[in-house]
Amino acid sequence: MAGNSSEIFALLGNPVGHSLSPLMHNATFKRMNIAAQYVPFCVRNLEDAVRGIRGLDIRGVSITIPFKTAVMPWLDEVDESSLRIGAVNTILHGDKDSLKGYNTDWIGLVRDLKESLEISGKTFAILGAGGGARAAVFGIQKEGGIAIVLNRSIEKGEKMARDFGCRFYPLLEIGNIEADCLINTTPVGMSPDREKSPLARESLVNFRWVMDIIYNPVKTKLLRDAEEVGCTVLSGVGMFVHQGAEQIKIWTGVDPPRSFMRHVVLERLKERDGN
Ligand code: NAP
Repeated sequence: MAGNSSEIFALLGNPVGHSLSPLMHNATFKRMNIAAQYVPFCVRNLEDAVRGIRGLDIRGVSITIPFKTAVMPWLDEVDESSLRIGAVNTILHGDKDSLKGYNTDWIGLVRDLKESLEISGKTFAILGAGGGARAAVFGIQKEGGIAIVLNRSIEKGEKMARDFGCRFYPLLEIGNIEADCLINTTPVGMSPDREKSPLARESLVNFRWVMDIIYNPVKTKLLRDAEEVGCTVLSGVGMFVHQGAEQIKIWTGVDPPRSFMRHVVLERLKERDGN
């Protein structure tokens, strides 16, 4: 885009202070020899912020909590996956000044899972019914897996299960659920509440794999408990790296160095929290 000596990319959310996206994206652009800066903005007014993408000639944007759904009406176009999920985490400021929304969370989750297991034909118990859960169910179904939703609030869980045509159970019924893999998409256990887990350890024995999409800490209480009862565990770092890598691919057309990105994120998490 004309005018800026280096391309500008942004993170829009509230809060944004703890996000590792600026560190990861800036380090990756440098590594790729792309003259770009990625700047976090704590948004006070979403409509004004979206107008600012055009006004400030920002090339691409990440959207985070709490705007992933609210941003959709302000965009010119939204891809089919984002529409089904009902959330956008990436915007491309493209030709003719258009703003197009994408969701890379589901791709991040699927890519990370596929590094450890075959999704097709397996059953996945998804804890939660928010944006992360919807991305997870969408991705799993797209890959031929079977998703079961468990949520604290019954109405929200039932609605999500209807939207995706899958089974729903209240969270308290976890003891009766059998699945190959459990995926936590609730924020329970996220730093600083590191000693909390959404489930009791005993209820993890029914699963072979347990994934937590939380990435800070790298090993949540849920994952520590799961390891103790013999499950194979997957942290949210892989999903985070892949969703970010997919954003760079959308913005630049180039696939970034994912193992470098993972290294940058893990080093910072180690430094920050002694993981
Ligand atoms: P969200 O839309 O707010 O949904 C949160 C869900 O968690 C809701 O269904 C909520 O249940 C449930 N929940 C919240 N507190 C709970 C509790 N104490 N006990 C039981 N259930 C509880 O959030 P989100 O956007 O999906 O994000 C959730 C987490 O995923 C965050 O930690 C976020 O950082 C992480 N995430 C990670 C990645 C990654 O790349 N690794 C990507 C996206 C999100 P109710 O419906 O009953 O309220």
